[in-house]
Amino acid sequence: MSRPIIATINQKSLKHNLSIVRSLVPKSKIWSVIKANAYGHGINNIWSLSDTDGFALLSIEEAIILREHGWDKPILLLEGFFHLKDLYLIDRYHLTTVIHSQWQIKALENVLLLNPINIYLKVNSGMNRLGFNQKLFHTIRKKLISLNNVHETTLMMHCGDADNQNTIIQSFRLTQRLITGLNCPCSISNSACVLWHPEVNHDWVRVGILLYGASPSGNWLDIANINLKPVMTLSSKIIGIQHLKKGDSIGYGYNYQAKKSQRIGVVACGYADGYPRHAPTGTPVLVDDKITQLVGVVSMDMITVDLTDCPKATIGSNVELWGNTIKIDQVAQVSGTIGYELMCSLASRVPVNIIC
Ligand SMILES: *Cc1c(COP(=O)(O)O)cnc(C)c1O
Repeated sequence: MSRPIIATINQKSLKHNLSIVRSLVPKSKIWSVIKANAYGHGINNIWSLSDTDGFALLSIEEAIILREHGWDKPILLLEGFFHLKDLYLIDRYHLTTVIHSQWQIKALENVLLLNPINIYLKVNSGMNRLGFNQKLFHTIRKKLISLNNVHETTLMMHCGDADNQNTIIQSFRLTQRLITGLNCPCSISNSACVLWHPEVNHDWVRVGILLYGASPSGNWLDIANINLKPVMTLSSKIIGIQHLKKGDSIGYGYNYQAKKSQRIGVVACGYADGYPRHAPTGTPVLVDDKITQLVGVVSMDMITVDLTDCPKATIGSNVELWGNTIKIDQVAQVSGTIGYELMCSLASRVPVNIIC
């Protein structure tokens, strides 16, 4: 038998979450964001999302995988193209690409494509990562529209601070100003905007984290009332039991000391599986049907959990690290990170079980 850790990916939950998002944005089309190997869930495990209007990701290689699988609806390259010759693949596979730099416009001018392509013109709305200065928008758009290689141009912005009402209002006003009088489709919203700022939803929204059942704010309670289902469950089993006396320590650094006699379960899961090394004593862990807690530091291959309130737990007992009961956001929050990072960090050594 193999080591008992396993990640379960529930494709039904993925489909369910898309239907929830759909009900939140009845007037917009949805880009389902599947970058980073579908946020760690596996690029091949996303087909229950096929009711989506398009898939958005980063790499042309993954886009081609989707096409070869038979996907013929839109695919958006969120960081655009990295080399001039990528344009031939974009053309051949009918991909939509972001344009965020002058050299990309020059490249578009200079290549000979078979079909005009759809582009997302990215405007920097204050995050100062990718995108053109808003003052250049009209000039660049005119230029792009004049090119034979360009079919439809959509205005794209990204909100870097969707928790801040002022930033959103600014983005909203900026968009309105830029597109007034133009027949220009827009795409602004990510998951946070979809939940909390529907006024910027426009024609296309780009939704990632909600599809996977976690919160864009990092706080599970913020999405507790919209009935999303966690897609990824990380589970394992107890592989050892220790009986501590008062004052005994556990794990590296001996930094946890028992205050009384205590039963401890050793679980086959560590940071080399993707469990966060910074998870502190007190992080919730489910053993059989009881919520208990991590004690001591996380090692590469093991964690230790308190079994004081789980008298029946023994070697072979089931442990949920995150999933339906222990939310990934809860584990992330106490570890100083966000659910996004934990999903993406699931290690390749963890076997994956698919529920379809
Ligand atoms: C990743 C990404 C998204 C999705 O963000 P979520 O917070 O997961 O919804 C949207 N837009 C862009 C440009 C992205 O890179």
